[in-house]
Amino acid sequence: MANFDFDIGVIGGGSAGLTVTSGAAQLGAKTLLIEKEEKLGGDCLHFGCVPSKTLIKTAHVYHMMKIAKDFGLPQVDLPPVDFRQVTHRIKSVIDVIQQHDSEERFCSLGAKVEFGDPEFTDEHTIRLNGKTYSAKYWVIATGSSPATPPIKGLDETPYITNREIFYLDRLPKSMIILGGGPIGTEMGQAFSRLGTSVQIIDRADQILGKEDKDMADGVMAVMRLEGVGFHLNASIEAIKDLGSKKEVTINDEEGKTLKLRAETILVSMGRSPNTANLGLEKIGVTFDRRGITVDKRLRTGQKHIYAAGDVNGGFQFTHAAGYEGGIVISNAIFRIPRKTDYTFLPWCTYSDPELASIGMNEKASKKAGINYSVWTEAFKNNDRSLAEGEKVGKIKMILDQKEKPIGVQILGPRAGDLINEWVAVLNGKVKLSTLASAVHPYPTIGEINKKVAGAYFSPKIFSDRIKKGLKFFFHLKGRACGPETCEE
Ligand SMILES: Cc1cc2nc3c(=O)[nH]c(=O)nc-3n(C[C@H](O)[C@H](O)[C@H](O)COP(=O)(O)OP(=O)(O)OC[C@H]3O[C@@H](n4cnc5c(N)ncnc54)[C@H](O)[C@@H]3O)c2cc1C
Repeated sequence: MANFDFDIGVIGGGSAGLTVTSGAAQLGAKTLLIEKEEKLGGDCLHFGCVPSKTLIKTAHVYHMMKIAKDFGLPQVDLPPVDFRQVTHRIKSVIDVIQQHDSEERFCSLGAKVEFGDPEFTDEHTIRLNGKTYSAKYWVIATGSSPATPPIKGLDETPYITNREIFYLDRLPKSMIILGGGPIGTEMGQAFSRLGTSVQIIDRADQILGKEDKDMADGVMAVMRLEGVGFHLNASIEAIKDLGSKKEVTINDEEGKTLKLRAETILVSMGRSPNTANLGLEKIGVTFDRRGITVDKRLRTGQKHIYAAGDVNGGFQFTHAAGYEGGIVISNAIFRIPRKTDYTFLPWCTYSDPELASIGMNEKASKKAGINYSVWTEAFKNNDRSLAEGEKVGKIKMILDQKEKPIGVQILGPRAGDLINEWVAVLNGKVKLSTLASAVHPYPTIGEINKKVAGAYFSPKIFSDRIKKGLKFFFHLKGRACGPETCEE
């Protein structure tokens, strides 16, 4: 039997790689982790989830200060935002979380951490900083980078991506965002709230293209009211550096050519997998522009080499990367064949209102040819939402032809937290009647989950048939008020 230096080698110290490393090391596998940056943590910690959610909160507080009058408070005259202070806060939050993702912590769990740019020399061995390391299993968890499409003039014009946006030394006066996906939407609203004049360009007829249009339009309507400009159904023709301003030429939805100008351009047009310089071509690990090709057990063409997280081109979320890390542990360490199942993988865009989703939405149901029904409840009918001044949004529950829930979308306050109850209901196959009859504390925004389940049962419970039965058995006298009084 071949004698390898390590039981398992992991390339990439982000969400997927750290999950595998921590699990494998704690289970007693001799584990090597290789990261090319100076610190562990990956995009999520340094350029993604953590800085973006920290920024969103700061922008939210500033926004609330501006609308204090709506809450019966005095109007305040606010000084402009000093973005260096915002960056300072972002870095301080990252620093705290970094301790959890430190080299020392992983060493204490039993894993060896090395920094540098590894390259496979054969299918079990990599070369790193002049040394070679072999492992029985390898996991490629190198994540993704911002995609930069071939737009005329983009290469010659300074622009920012998620790698720079949280570390600017001042707040841009104006910003054009290329792409209305989750990153463009979240950043667009946050910067607009902080005082930047924002315009978002997208080629589709809606932002947040994966979501149902009515839900995405709900986010866009709020952002529009706050002053964000949108150019949908627009194609980007060219980009030009004018010095202090940048110019983006678009063909708008009416076919007109528009020249938009702003101080800063944010490119948020999707992600490219980090597959370069790993020597994958030499060892038979195949990939395309979306990512490394894997089977349902996340194995590449080489069955002992796995690819987990953004780099395999699947769901690009931290929780998906963590889940996939667990799948690799099952297969490579426990040797229990386990396949991925994304049926009820939830996600959320942290705009205000938030838009969270799990399972099938209307778009996906139509595409799959499912005969579905939709049940909704509006946040304007939720007492706690009203108390908190949150009147926008709704929950949408999708049932299949057998009236089984197959998906839920929530547009509204704390939607990302509210979806968690559905994570349990859908994964645990909890009956809708259980959810509808379970007591939820009053007044909570979460009551909306119970209410939408109840909405499905209401017409059945309060049907004429039931009323007739009760009247027959118990001699109920019928309506005491209203146009049909005493008619029954
Ligand atoms: C602005 C923004 C906001 C986001 N917000 C959210 C959110 O709110 N919720 C959510 O779930 N997801 C969010 N995401 C997505 C999330 O960050 C990613 O899905 C997640 O980080 C993927 O984890 P990963 O382990 O695949 O990659 P990463 O976390 O990026 O880790 C990959 C690691 O591999 C390293 N690496 C790359 N190449 C090499 C190499 N050749 N050799 C060695 N190491 C290498 C990288 O330096 C990095 O440390 C956001 C992303 C962005 C950009």
